[in-house]
Amino acid sequence: MRGWIWVIDNKMRDYGEVHYDTRIVRINKQLHKRTKELLIDTLLHEELHIRYPLLSERGICALTERTLPHLTKSRRSTMYKRLGNKRPIKIGTKALRLPDGVIRRFKSKRARDQFERRVRQRIKQISEA
Ligand SMILES: [Zn+2]
Repeated sequence: MRGWIWVIDNKMRDYGEVHYDTRIVRINKQLHKRTKELLIDTLLHEELHIRYPLLSERGICALTERTLPHLTKSRRSTMYKRLGNKRPIKIGTKALRLPDGVIRRFKSKRARDQFERRVRQRIKQISEA
């Protein structure tokens, strides 16, 4: 899941959506509450889309159903934690902690700041769309 950014977007129509080009996963948390749909189900579903980009929607649904009962507690908590922070956090001068907890290092402060701006812009675009 390295490099992927998970964000909450309560304005979207679906439960979740994967953008392969920007490596951003959007999750509609409010919709889950409203319909009593399981959040963990969607988190796993979207993760499987990332892992198996060529698998059909039906295949992903079937795999989600098969895998869900066997998730350990620590796997579940890792998946929930991805939604913890919406923004990347600066660490030192050349690194960022991404919302999924991954620390990403850059060759220069400039490269780090450029990447951060791109991510923030993308998140803003998504939440305004
Ligand atoms: Zn799907």
